[in-house]
Amino acid sequence: MLREEDVIFGKIALELNLVTPEQLEEGLSLQERYFPPLVLGEALRRKGFLNRKQITLVLSVQQRRLSCREISRRHHQEELKFGSLAIHRGLVTPAQLEQALRIQQEQMERDRYFHLGRVFFKLGILSFREVRSVLALQRKSLMSCPQCRNQFNVVGYRKSRHYRCTNCGTHLVTSRRFSDDYINDTIT
Ligand SMILES: [Zn+2]
Repeated sequence: MLREEDVIFGKIALELNLVTPEQLEEGLSLQERYFPPLVLGEALRRKGFLNRKQITLVLSVQQRRLSCREISRRHHQEELKFGSLAIHRGLVTPAQLEQALRIQQEQMERDRYFHLGRVFFKLGILSFREVRSVLALQRKSLMSCPQCRNQFNVVGYRKSRHYRCTNCGTHLVTSRRFSDDYINDTIT
């Protein structure tokens, strides 16, 4: 049985043109001859198809891809809730939600995760204020660090509470726009 990591590793190695499909096959069959199986990168290295530097490169892309998927898995329910609240308030149509989910998926394939609100914003469907208003229904607030410009999605937001940047400790302020970073850290 192939592990998810190896499937992704193989895909990335192909995408980066580091191996051919035939070489990948050879690596996979070598892997199987060991128990426990070799990790795919090591199998491809023993075959002489990848060197250590190339393995490191593939692993770094893989790391980003896995963390992107992890974020997506964790946020899935909340994102759907965001979508249905936006529909309920008449801010987006079901077709627009479908479009936004498709774009989110496309971005994920490029190892980037955009929250739905940001996708709607980029599409010109929701204004920043509207995104905030839907998030507020979920008791969330976007806050920014004036110091390092990190942006955070604060869950269970309470006005009376002070929130600090997890990166530099500065007091966060209410965001007035989206930051350029594509992933918002979440503070609960
Ligand atoms: Zn900061």
